[in-house]
Amino acid sequence: MKTSDKQPAAQQPYKSWKELPHVPVSYPQLGSIGATGEWRTFKPEINAEACNKCGMCYLYCPDGVISYKEGTLPEIDYMFCKGCGICASICPKKAIEMVKEKE
Ligand code: SF4
Ligand code: SF4
Repeated sequence: MKTSDKQPAAQQPYKSWKELPHVPVSYPQLGSIGATGEWRTFKPEINAEACNKCGMCYLYCPDGVISYKEGTLPEIDYMFCKGCGICASICPKKAIEMVKEKE
């Protein structure tokens, strides 16, 4: 194997996402697939006591339906949340529970 065939070692220059440089991003458009609250089967509920207000759920929600200001409790727009559960999976405090919608 030639030296040039070797994969470079993975580098982790940042200790947290807060250290990432600012780059152009495109945000999901709120409600781009229409109101999903009518067909969603599970919805996320935030446990205010367990939440540490880190904002990770806001960053990861693929539909941009979580509102968040640093140091405050996030708010979910249930009109457009599709219940995918990504926010619950990513929450480091397990403060989001996916609850079955009532019929
Ligand atoms: S990811 Fe979890 S702990 Fe962090 S703000 Fe969201 S609900 Fe709170
Ligand atoms: S369940 Fe999915 S769409 Fe709803 S707030 Fe969480 S990440 Fe966003």
